[in-house]
Amino acid sequence: MGIRVIICSLLVIMVTLSSCSKKISTAINSTTTVNSDASMKKPYVILISLDGFRWDYVDRFNPPNLSAFIKTGVKSESLIPSFPSKTFPNHYTIATGMYPDKHGIIGNTFYSYDKNSVYRIRDRKVVEDGDFYRGSPIWIQANKANMVTASYFFVGSEADIQGIKPTYYYNYDGNVKNETRVDQALKWLQMPEKKRPHMITMYFSDMDRVGHRFGPNNDEKLIERLLELDLVLGNLFDGVSKTGLPVNIVIVSDHGMLEVPFEKYIPIEDLMNDELYMTINNGVIVNIHPKDNSNMNTIYNDLKNREENFKVYKTKNTPNFEYVPKDKNWGTIQIIPDEGYFFSTRARIVAAKEESRTISGQHGFDPKLKEMHGVFYANGPTLKEGYVIPSIKNIHIYPLLCEILGLEIPDNIDGNLNEIKSVLQNKQ
Ligand code: AMP
Ligand code: ZN
Ligand code: ZN
Repeated sequence: MGIRVIICSLLVIMVTLSSCSKKISTAINSTTTVNSDASMKKPYVILISLDGFRWDYVDRFNPPNLSAFIKTGVKSESLIPSFPSKTFPNHYTIATGMYPDKHGIIGNTFYSYDKNSVYRIRDRKVVEDGDFYRGSPIWIQANKANMVTASYFFVGSEADIQGIKPTYYYNYDGNVKNETRVDQALKWLQMPEKKRPHMITMYFSDMDRVGHRFGPNNDEKLIERLLELDLVLGNLFDGVSKTGLPVNIVIVSDHGMLEVPFEKYIPIEDLMNDELYMTINNGVIVNIHPKDNSNMNTIYNDLKNREENFKVYKTKNTPNFEYVPKDKNWGTIQIIPDEGYFFSTRARIVAAKEESRTISGQHGFDPKLKEMHGVFYANGPTLKEGYVIPSIKNIHIYPLLCEILGLEIPDNIDGNLNEIKSVLQNKQ
């Protein structure tokens, strides 16, 4: 009896100790819930992503609220995405100031050797797994400075990166109405000062969806969606200005859109060989992972001999990258479709035919293609008025956000404040 009591007591002590040490270790990387005195004195930033909003939409369609926002704020001719110009790599580049090769989200789909699993944007388990994400996204950088943050969606915001998430956040649900997102952002700005977030991210997928469905040249469909979105943004701008707070609103998009007829879709199944290699398709870049690396040259030569509307490269020689890709998760061989072509599944190509669809919009292509460019518009007390800069790479958004919020800019990022600081008041 006595021995059992002692053993039980020992067990209780051990469990208590281990749960204590757990608490201590999470406390090191804990989410900030209260602004420090210094943070309370900082301005506010709302970072808004308009997925797939191409650089020329505002000039083509004159949405009233966005046009007024730009006129009294700053803009760049366009925002140049990173390769591949897909949604997840580019949102996370905007959030971290790093190219995909460095931040780790190298595609909407990719194989991870460390995790021995495939990351897919529709797989909630991997999307929420912080292990896939490198760098210090802006909400973490703010968190480190004891600044309260919030997110109504942004790639990475739902993952426990370095054990930290935004103070307030939602798991992604594309069905949440845009109005609900705006109402919540305005509620956050009305919270008591100690708990009020200074860094808020928001995300709207409307223009990406309409662009994919009808292509970027269908003015009628684009303008309909754009005006709806513009109304919602107008409500946000009004609501923000009523708070009287020093809020800087930064609007970006992850990429543009190119018209791709379905006749230029290439069935990916034609190139697959599950026995010899794993094939990861992002439409505009296909990663090949040989199962046995001693077969690499044979696989490469075989694919190379079959080039038709696409080209095959050893990874380090692949064009379109801004750097020599180093992350092993790319695989050793890449297949790149010729401009205007796109890899998809045979089922999807057949479905489009059955629905008598001929045109689609796609992105992911070479960032040098102007159709792939997105937008950067910003307005607020820390920014100039009516100021335009040339096209700029999206790696530079992060250091700008850090500067506005008075956060330390990590020295291992790819972005550079000097490239963008002229949009700030009192800066050349
Ligand atoms: P794509 O056009 O394929 O590059 O990806 C765009 C899609 O990404 C959108 O239609 C959204 O459904 C999806 N998406 C955006 N943000 C998230 C998120 N945080 N979690 C999951 N899916 C997302
Ligand atoms: Zn996108
Ligand atoms: Zn898209």
